[in-house]
Amino acid sequence: MSKAKDFITKIDPTWCPGCGNFGIWLGVRQAAAELGFQPHQLALFFDIGCNGNGANYFNAYNFHGLHGRAVPAAIGAKLANHKLTVLVFAGDGGAYGEGGNHFIAACRSNIDITLIVHDNKRYSLTTGQASPTSSVGTKSKATPDGSFEVDFQPLQTAIANGATFVARAYADDTVNLTKIIKTAINHRGFSLVDVLQPCPTFNRDNTRDWYKSRLYNLQDQKWDATNKNQALVKAGEWGEKIPVGILYQVTKSTYKSHLPQLKNQSLVEQELKISPVIFEKLLAELK
Ligand code: SF4
Repeated sequence: MSKAKDFITKIDPTWCPGCGNFGIWLGVRQAAAELGFQPHQLALFFDIGCNGNGANYFNAYNFHGLHGRAVPAAIGAKLANHKLTVLVFAGDGGAYGEGGNHFIAACRSNIDITLIVHDNKRYSLTTGQASPTSSVGTKSKATPDGSFEVDFQPLQTAIANGATFVARAYADDTVNLTKIIKTAINHRGFSLVDVLQPCPTFNRDNTRDWYKSRLYNLQDQKWDATNKNQALVKAGEWGEKIPVGILYQVTKSTYKSHLPQLKNQSLVEQELKISPVIFEKLLAELK
């Protein structure tokens, strides 16, 4: 039986005091422990952003990708080795901005990975510019008169594009966050957990007090997570009240089940049929 501390390295996080990244870090480690994982069973893919140096703080197989490219790298790993549990960590900028098309492709393919988005509504690593999920009118260094682009709707986009598990969580509520991450990992197919994350350094709009008066848990009320139209409407609720919880979850065939060459065995389990001579030649050409 593992413990949350088994997934920590010896490196101390350098995140700002009060950063929501700490809650997500704890929630993921707690979920991994409660599901009985050992570190070698997890492959974690990190995007660029404040959360990205989580690659140094989690004890697991880690990959730190370029801007918006963590999702395709994670998809490659899952196709290569189905036995790995694959999680991706990205900010709202990386996941929905630079990596927007990778995000949509993952929803559409129903590939069996979990995307955890640190949604602090800012490009905080580059000192707090407005991001895709910033509300219209957000003032930042790059938008001194207020942003005017319509804010991106990740949950509605995911549901509309075929994602089979769509949830929203809050970084400070680690009990509910852990529960949602566990369900997302156990879900067969693409799962999105958009985590609302306070950034006390650069986001003075969506503060802890701001969230406190608005968030309510969908699972505290009668909620049918299989109703797509209802989920689409609920995913658009943002204002005086903001729902967290599992908005949508359905069962559908996953990506690999459509590929005869992969559905029974992942690549690492298959015999290399290419002649060793040709293989050596190919390797030589790559040098
Ligand atoms: Fe966290 Fe914001 Fe500091 Fe980045 S800038 S580490 S998101 S509090």
